[in-house]
Amino acid sequence: MKNYNVLSELPKSQLGFFPTPVVALKNLSRHLGGPDILMKRDDLTGLALGGNKTRKLEFIIGDAVSKGYDSLVTAGAQQSNHCRQTAAAAAQLGLECHLLLGGTQPEAQNGNLLLDKLFGANIHWTKQNRKGEDIPCVVNALVKQGKKPYVIPYGGSNELGACGFISAGLELATQIQDYNLSHVFFASSSGGTHAGLMLANSILNATHKLVGVQIDKDEVNTTSFKSQVLELANKTSGFLRLEQRYGLSDVFLDDQYLGDGYGIFGAPERHAIELLARTEGILLDPVYTGRAMAALIDKIKKGQLGNSKQVLFWHTGGAPSLFSYANKLDN
Ligand SMILES: *Cc1c(COP(=O)(O)O)cnc(C)c1O
Repeated sequence: MKNYNVLSELPKSQLGFFPTPVVALKNLSRHLGGPDILMKRDDLTGLALGGNKTRKLEFIIGDAVSKGYDSLVTAGAQQSNHCRQTAAAAAQLGLECHLLLGGTQPEAQNGNLLLDKLFGANIHWTKQNRKGEDIPCVVNALVKQGKKPYVIPYGGSNELGACGFISAGLELATQIQDYNLSHVFFASSSGGTHAGLMLANSILNATHKLVGVQIDKDEVNTTSFKSQVLELANKTSGFLRLEQRYGLSDVFLDDQYLGDGYGIFGAPERHAIELLARTEGILLDPVYTGRAMAALIDKIKKGQLGNSKQVLFWHTGGAPSLFSYANKLDN
């Protein structure tokens, strides 16, 4: 499947520094006694302390700017990395930014929330609605004020966001020469990273297995996360006029590491964060990469990666939220 040139014709805003490095985690590999572990450092995308949302936002905000929108509206959890990177991009491009954050205003404003404020974002607290349920309300109010608001969905996971991770997958292929790679592990939570990497693999005929480590529990009464990833992958393929269509069995999500739910910090996350800090001097985060790395560590320890020689962990960022977990981490 080669006809993905539509990708290069889409408008983009340059927000990050690419390619991000691929590094070998030699100490960690030795410590675990498993396959060689590589890491794709998307924590180093460069936009406001980095992270995977930079790649999605390059396409999404590129679209907004090319169509003359003047404000961005998006949503997330209180410690959303997506919202932090959106706020920074808006500041860089001179756009107004409105963030709908779940919960209520906390007493201590730290981590990503502190940074949202620093970037001058307008914050709307939406209690139990952390996935953008209240966006139409904010959009209506902005339109009444004569603004032209552009809505970015939760996590930036639409077709344009997924395009960011198609190009990420293509970028990785240029960085890995001797192709022994058996698995790519990453934290999966709104689906854009996962859908984009699936399409990149199809374009490249790559054979490594994509292991999305599910971070957030499936909610009752909504479609399963797996079907959401599937739907996004197929929609994105159609959007790019590619022929590839997937079925549910093409989406591999591991839901064995959900712990007590989204953002709830437990022993596996702590262990993974400490291990990476102490063996490699690399920071993971409590919500996403800590959990996904805990999954990789567990699978290596249990010998569940077969006779794999080399695996890659996609570091999707998130370290700013470490500070909002300070009292849980430091005891
Ligand atoms: C958003 C996010 C993810 C998940 O990416 P999706 O494309 O939303 O599935 C993983 N890690 C970090 C640090 C994130 O901020």
